[in-house]
Formats: sequence, C-alpha cells, structure tokens
Amino acid sequence: MIDAATLRRLIDAVADAVIAHADELTALDQAIGDGDHGLNMKRGFEAVRADAAILAGKPLPEALKAIGVQLVMKVGGASGPLYGTLFMALGKEIGTAGVAGALALAIEAVKARGKSQEGQKTMLDVLAPVQLAVAAGGADLLARLPGIADRAADATVPMLAVRGRASFLGERSVGHMDPGARSAALIVGAVCAALEG
Ligand code: ADP
Ligand code: MG
Repeated sequence: MIDAATLRRLIDAVADAVIAHADELTALDQAIGDGDHGLNMKRGFEAVRADAAILAGKPLPEALKAIGVQLVMKVGGASGPLYGTLFMALGKEIGTAGVAGALALAIEAVKARGKSQEGQKTMLDVLAPVQLAVAAGGADLLARLPGIADRAADATVPMLAVRGRASFLGERSVGHMDPGARSAALIVGAVCAALEG
C-alpha cells in the first residue's frame, strides 16, 4: 500500500507543518476561540513525531489508528477527539474502502462525534471538499489538492460558527478563518507535498 520510508516522510511532513504553524493556529483561535489550538496541535504532533520511527514500521491502517490514539490522548480541546476520530476511522477503513472511501467514512465519523456538519465553520469545511476532490480524481490531483484545501479554509472566513467554542461569539465569529479549517488545510498540504516529493 505504502512503504515505510514514504510513511515516515508523510508523518514527519505533517507533524513539521503543524508544529511550524502553531503560532498562526494560536492567533486564529485567539480571534474566535480560547487561543489554544496551536499549542494543542503542536503537543499532539510532537508526540506523533517522537513516535515516527515506530509508527512508520506499522502497516498503514495500524499506523493511522495509532496516530489517532496519540491525537486523542495529547491534543485535547474539541479538536483532539475529532482529529483522533478522523485518523482512527481512516485506519479502520483504508484497507477496504480506498482513500476516497475511507476519507468519506472518516468524515462521517467526525460529524457523528462532533454532532456537526459542513457549513458550520469547522475543520469539516476543509475535509469535505478535499474528499470530493479526491473522489473525483483526475490529473495532477496532488498538485491541485493543497489549493482546494486552502481555498476551503479561506471560505470559512465569512461563515457563522454554529459548533465549538467559536459559536459562543455568534455573529462576531464572522470575518475570521476557523482555526481547525486552517489546521486541516495544513495537514492536506503536507500530505500532498510529501507524496509528490
Ligand atoms: P477548543 O475549541 O476546545 O479550544 P481547539 O481550539 O483545539 O479546541 O479546536 C477548535 C477547532 O475544532 C475549531 O476551529 C473547529 O474547526 C473544530 N471543532 C470544534 N467543534 C467542532 C465540532 N463539533 N465539529 C467539528 N469540528 C469542530
Ligand atoms: Mg481552542
């Protein structure tokens, strides 16, 4: 499915991207949340990075599940259980459902866990359009996907938050990018860059 060296590159790339953008994620969460998203994600992905050698030695489904468990344990906040659910479900489904199918099922698991759906100014507003693009496939998918994810994160700026902490702000959540949408776009960008490189 994917060899250990590629998996290692993927894990390192995703962890590095999240860690490098921790301050930006914090600033976004300061605007419409409690300012912990950067630190939460940094803590989680530092734990993943520390385990990268062991994780990369596992078959992809097991590695994804183990990453999900790490994120649940280490990230905290609302995003920890949600990203944890995403990765654990990806691990559970990828062996049989393929990438697009597993992503669709994992997104459904996040929605169930968060009692949320698209259009509510969350990470789902990036994950869902990315899944649609993966399912549609086509030429240069890996080159196109980061732009799709970034534009989807940008599209959360005018949205009204109806889930998570940002929803407490009501109309004042409008005009800011959702921190979880940005972290999701960072993860997608890093995965694509690592797979292309
Ligand atoms: P907390 O909100 O507990 O401080 P974080 O700051 O780490 O947790 O994460 C906030 C992000 O989590 C939001 O920007 C949003 O993208 C995502 N999020 C919060 N609640 C939900 C939900 N119910 N469904 C989907 N995503 C959510
Ligand atoms: Mg927060």
